[in-house]
Amino acid sequence: MKNITLLGATGSIGKSTLSVVDLHPDKFNIFALSANTDWKQMIKLCNKYQPSYAIMVDEQSAEKLSNAITTDIQVLSSVKALDKIVTHQDTDYIMAAIVGAIGMSSALCGAKAGKRIMLANKESLVLAGDIFMKTVKEFNAELIPVDSEHSAIFQCLKSGKSGLNKIQLTASGGPFLHTPISKFKSITPDEACAHPNWSMGRKISVDSATMMNKGLEVIEAHYLFSLTPKQIDVVIHPQSIIHSSVFYKDGSTLSQLGNPDMRTVIAYAMSYPKRMNSGVSELDLTSTASLEFYQPDFEKFTCLKLAFEALNKGGNAMITMNAANEIAVKYFLNHQISFLDIPRIIDQTLSTMKHTTLNSLEEVINNDLVAREIAHEIIKQHG
Ligand code: NAD
Ligand code: MG
Repeated sequence: MKNITLLGATGSIGKSTLSVVDLHPDKFNIFALSANTDWKQMIKLCNKYQPSYAIMVDEQSAEKLSNAITTDIQVLSSVKALDKIVTHQDTDYIMAAIVGAIGMSSALCGAKAGKRIMLANKESLVLAGDIFMKTVKEFNAELIPVDSEHSAIFQCLKSGKSGLNKIQLTASGGPFLHTPISKFKSITPDEACAHPNWSMGRKISVDSATMMNKGLEVIEAHYLFSLTPKQIDVVIHPQSIIHSSVFYKDGSTLSQLGNPDMRTVIAYAMSYPKRMNSGVSELDLTSTASLEFYQPDFEKFTCLKLAFEALNKGGNAMITMNAANEIAVKYFLNHQISFLDIPRIIDQTLSTMKHTTLNSLEEVINNDLVAREIAHEIIKQHG
């Protein structure tokens, strides 16, 4: 029996994780659950899973949850509580599925405690990829990607990196693949969140629509698989059936395929190195629409270009980019800026922020905060 600490339990990845756990009550137990503010949903989850701990990062929500719970589940609050529970001796596996930079600290603490980290929070690697990978190695933690592309690469690389030419991340292209750029200005948050293939939280859905998500994934792949930017390629594949591929010198290309459903990726991370049922139906290629592939349009999807540039530049550029993106997406989701403002704000934040190298986690966190302030200022000044 493996005890799971599920961070981000009320989100899209959280829900899919619980549905996989439901299929295997003999193998997995929910040890702890966390969320930010959705205490009503958390009451339901606590009643069903009876975890030892429930953490609401928002204090008022923790109080409401605590008042509503009658059993002896311990309700905690704050990011520090997350950092503590992931290191608890009874935590075996951590599903790191909090959205945004705020999810980094707990994922990193879990790595320091030598746990299995099932990493959905790609922002952790974008912010502190070097530190994260070193920590995983030093403390003998297990890092299993919970991102469909990276899970695909992880699986394909089982035949080794010898003779590897490149990896290729597939991208659906999002809801605006065929929308002319002249229409981008009037895109609404709901239109941006209506992803054709994947059902996801609102932040990552907007990232998919701008293709910043693919940019973050290129950086994620760079750290996870220790590859140079030149070894990471992106191809548009609107059907999301091929989840990514690796290309070898001898002409062999290995790909991982499946229906677009994160339960496959989650079940793999939970059962690795074995396989188990995820509840996802088997792929039937005879009834699948024909598979298409295109080159990405870097002029239309400027965010993808910005991410490649930030990776090539190194230092604090990726952290600054991620912070500005989080702020811009938040304003966009609140109807305060337009879709086209997102790349503009990121670009301006990057040119305002001094380019430096960062040598510690403290410097990373500080850079993240300063970049957020600059992005706020840019939005306030120019709207
Ligand atoms: P979501 O918005 O559906 O859920 C986010 C979760 O994080 C919620 O449980 C929420 O309570 C929690 N959260 C939000 N703000 C918080 C805060 N300040 N403090 C603590 N907890 C907070 O997001 P999601 O789609 O489940 O994505 C989660 C992560 O997984 C993201 O990093 C995303 O990039 C990654 N990811 C998601 C998918 C997907 O299919 N949804 C695929 C690959 C990677
Ligand atoms: Mg992905």
